[in-house]
Amino acid sequence: MKTLSQKSFISSVDITNYITDSGNKLSDARAINLLGVTESSNNFSANGWSYEDAKKYLFNIGGKLVEAGFYSHFADDKADRLIKQVIELPTSFSCPMKCAYCASSLINDISPLDVDVMITITQFILDANDIDNDRAVLIALTGTGDAYYTLGMICEYLSRASQVYKNFSYTISSCNWTHDMLMTVEKLQRQYRIRNVQSTFISNNENVVASIIPGFRYMKLQPLAFIDIVKGSMFVNWRINYLMMDSINDGDDHFIEFIKMVKPINDKVIIRISSLNETFASRSNGLKPSNLQRSEVFKRMLNHEGINAYIFHSVENNNMSCGQLVLEKNSLTTMPCRRAL
Ligand code: SF4
Repeated sequence: MKTLSQKSFISSVDITNYITDSGNKLSDARAINLLGVTESSNNFSANGWSYEDAKKYLFNIGGKLVEAGFYSHFADDKADRLIKQVIELPTSFSCPMKCAYCASSLINDISPLDVDVMITITQFILDANDIDNDRAVLIALTGTGDAYYTLGMICEYLSRASQVYKNFSYTISSCNWTHDMLMTVEKLQRQYRIRNVQSTFISNNENVVASIIPGFRYMKLQPLAFIDIVKGSMFVNWRINYLMMDSINDGDDHFIEFIKMVKPINDKVIIRISSLNETFASRSNGLKPSNLQRSEVFKRMLNHEGINAYIFHSVENNNMSCGQLVLEKNSLTTMPCRRAL
């Protein structure tokens, strides 16, 4: 097994001129500066690959900080069989969901990214990694932000990106899919290559979810509506990201209840059993990762019922796997931690 390697450098580079399809330069208010790149390699348990080279790009956009990732996934730790390459894009500065485990929950200055900026970042990462327009790239719209708030921009991004980049496929994610959003996704999948539509799952218990995802206090929890819509949907690549947390959802009873819920849609869904990345926020809010043995038990139970499932776990928690973790690592998220209720 390879050991974790990580390096980081800070050098301010103005990439404002990288505007692409419209040919317009970005305004000063949206001027983009690359502040640094952090690189890391790590072994994973994942679906069809087990080794990752990761780069996290930290940008200052009109005075606000945001990060985007570029990942190369390999079949094994010799890093000699490339499975896929992924650009993970944020859709907002910080995120109104305020999940109690998420590094971005400590950043209070929240606003959506605009599509010019997202396209600019995309082109910059492609150029920085010598990826031409013919190479297959997965655009994971799973960075900071949630489609519940940003689906309109995601639609616009797909529309514009697909005109320029013919070999992109896309993953879209939310922890609160509504009927209207799912109808939009149905339309998108007729026009674009949608690899996965992901829904984050914590619990069926409304109070538990609302205590961990404050955004839910202002919405209606709809896990069964999600299941009903998937049941009636033509789209078959749904993914449920089951975020395993100690004592929250890692008991046998939790597993049995979840299996009962998803069994009717087992032909259209894959379950990703994810380890929680520990952050300042998760630690302050008393949320702990479950252990890997519980993930293995859960995977066996799901498979036994004919439900496709895999464990998603990085051997080292290297602050590269999601959202604003590089920001946090560089002590750029300095807001005081909030307690989950
Ligand atoms: S985990 Fe995702 S949805 Fe939750 S606050 Fe972070 S970016 Fe938003």
